[in-house]
Amino acid sequence: MTCDLLVTSAHLFSMDDERRVYPDGALAIDGGRIVAVGPRRLIEPRFAPRRTLDARGGVVHPGFVETHVHVMNTARGAASDTLPLGPGMSLNRRWWSVVEDDDEHVATLLTAAEMLVNGTTCFMEAGTVHAPDAAAEAMQALGIRGLLGDPFLWDRGEETPGEENQRAPRSLERSLERLGGQLSRNDDPDALVRGYVAVFGYGTASDELLHAAKAVADRAGVVLTQHQSFGPPDIAADAHLRGQRPLLHLEQAGLLGPNCTFSHMNLLHAEEQDAVARSGMAVAWCPSCALSWGTGAAATGTHAELHRRGVPVGLASDGATSSCRYDIGLQGLLALLSTRERSGDRTALGAADVLELATRGGARAAGLDAEIGTLEAGKRADLVIRRPDLPETHPAGDPLQALVYAAGAKSVDTVLVDGRVVVADGRITGVDSERLFGLADRSAARMRERLGYPSPRQWPEIR
Ligand SMILES: [Zn+2]
Repeated sequence: MTCDLLVTSAHLFSMDDERRVYPDGALAIDGGRIVAVGPRRLIEPRFAPRRTLDARGGVVHPGFVETHVHVMNTARGAASDTLPLGPGMSLNRRWWSVVEDDDEHVATLLTAAEMLVNGTTCFMEAGTVHAPDAAAEAMQALGIRGLLGDPFLWDRGEETPGEENQRAPRSLERSLERLGGQLSRNDDPDALVRGYVAVFGYGTASDELLHAAKAVADRAGVVLTQHQSFGPPDIAADAHLRGQRPLLHLEQAGLLGPNCTFSHMNLLHAEEQDAVARSGMAVAWCPSCALSWGTGAAATGTHAELHRRGVPVGLASDGATSSCRYDIGLQGLLALLSTRERSGDRTALGAADVLELATRGGARAAGLDAEIGTLEAGKRADLVIRRPDLPETHPAGDPLQALVYAAGAKSVDTVLVDGRVVVADGRITGVDSERLFGLADRSAARMRERLGYPSPRQWPEIR
């Protein structure tokens, strides 16, 4: 049988329902989909591939899925990394007020590049890009899969004076007008960039807006996302607006369901955890963000418990500015370590859970588990081939532990999305890297000027 590509000599983690591993595995790809996977001795004789990729014994696994992202990495270094929560969120608001379409295009190029070289093949944008078309174009150029939401669906709560979002004022009318605007991307079943429904959240949506958003998501068969229960201040404000703990209100209002994926969910009461488990909804766990901002999740978060209860949990960075990296492997390791520290229980999460959350969990949270998240015949060929020749990949006692604890993102060698090579030898293939870095640096300089923050460089620089 002919096929486009045969990946051979892979230590292959299928992440299928039985979690089958093929220590000397092979995988055949045709038309962007996996057509066969299994031991090399059984797969190789069956296929006459147009191209072969020798994994040289390296780990191969499904591409990681990042479940909550703001495309803002060109804000990296724009301000001090020790801004407290209030001024830190203020930087975000100011960013969203002054960012222009070109900047969002460049930030998405850089985002896609960073994610791909870290082994992430799909991401859920959080609905905070003013120009989704500019972002989609960048995603297609780099060849990354992703979901885009309509920009800033929100209609309640106070704007901070001087930081009003000029491009997207809070309004029910404006939000309803935009709602569902990204869904036409899904008319093409093979679209790399798809649409879903993203409400901003944190109590900035009326029930009327949330009901409308949920109905649109239900009808279109897509995920509804929003920020929820980040830290004590927003939870208190949300509870005040709703008259009770937010997740309990949302459940009673019929606003939770299997197609909901809320981000953060850091501090949930026991009854809220039950409501989440009952609803079938998914959670986007943002460990580095929670740790960096001191939300208290490392002390009282319950993501690992939700995962153990069968709640679908994915991992996310929430963005890659001063506190986070677009590196789901790192997010997984931080999730694991913070959970062990909080629970005092070393059995709470292990390396297998990290790969589980990063692949299957993310795919389910994105509502794309029928298409991605495992390496099985019929699924899209989104996968990562790791280098076997690093100090951290030896000895080969347990390649899974080596991957999660030791090698991390530096072992990413080749990345495929829809069977196309989007990273080769650790470098993106879609856009010239030097050109991209130049664009990103110039956009960041423009943004720094508009934002007017003092340079965060602390030490005397001698030139
Ligand atoms: Zn966010």
